[in-house]
Amino acid sequence: MATTTQFASGTQQISLPFQGESDIIGSYLLAGDNEVAIIDPGPGSTIEALFASIREAGFEPQQVTHLLATHVHLDHAGGVGSLVRAMPHAKVYVHSKGAPHLLDTSKVVASATRIYGDRMQTFWGEIESTPQERLRVIEDGDILKVAGRRLEVHYTPGHAIHHVVFFDVHSGELFAGDTAGVRLQGVDYVRPPTPPPDIDLEAWNQSIDKIKKMRPDILYLGHFGPTSNAQYHLEQLRKKLTTWGNTVLESMRRGNDEEGVLAQLIANTEYELARSSSDPNVVKRYEIATNYAMTVQGYMRYWQKKHPERL
Ligand SMILES: [Zn+2]
Repeated sequence: MATTTQFASGTQQISLPFQGESDIIGSYLLAGDNEVAIIDPGPGSTIEALFASIREAGFEPQQVTHLLATHVHLDHAGGVGSLVRAMPHAKVYVHSKGAPHLLDTSKVVASATRIYGDRMQTFWGEIESTPQERLRVIEDGDILKVAGRRLEVHYTPGHAIHHVVFFDVHSGELFAGDTAGVRLQGVDYVRPPTPPPDIDLEAWNQSIDKIKKMRPDILYLGHFGPTSNAQYHLEQLRKKLTTWGNTVLESMRRGNDEEGVLAQLIANTEYELARSSSDPNVVKRYEIATNYAMTVQGYMRYWQKKHPERL
């Protein structure tokens, strides 16, 4: 089964199989000037699949020179420490606020183990630290000349405090990570991915404004694939971020605990997703991409931390 898709710009999309489903986790491969860059190479559990896709795209894993992380969440960059061992020329690019978590993965491993327990290895594989000499710290406004492209780095906090997007002004392509939300292919439904601990709705709204002003022709989502109507897509995300956040807030104000808030959010929203696609698996597939439990935990923490006066 083909896992790579090449677009007219030369960008290749890689679909990494996750929890038995394809087209949930997306990586993007850029090649040119004897360089190969992978944006969001994914978790440690899908490294063999990533290698197969790199070969399918016409390259060897050893030829990879750049691993660009939009952010350090495990589904985007959990595998980079292991990857640099297999890719002798590869450097890892990450925002300064995310760099400590790649240099030393012990905190990430500890918090993920609390959530995933004995499913850690199956979900995420190895989570190895990246040696300092293989890491390059990036900041807002940096220009990366990579694989024949000129990629602008834009800092876009909201989903994660260290999140960046990469924008190729020339081709109009914007690699959005999770800042543009989750929307699986063939479904007109944008879902807000709001895991703890960094969710910040004010910052996220500003990041949405920032991306809209860039007027990208294509957004490449981490979950999953390209979307060409960026302005519409981003407004859908903004609406959902707000309404879901308000549902959580109101439920908390009524005195519900996490379980109660979760039940309320599912009751208020799951039917919309179910009816937005004829695929009977659509709810399950979105749940794999970004699950309700973490969504609720992220929002609850946001309200408690940033707006205790509203509770
Ligand atoms: Zn994420």
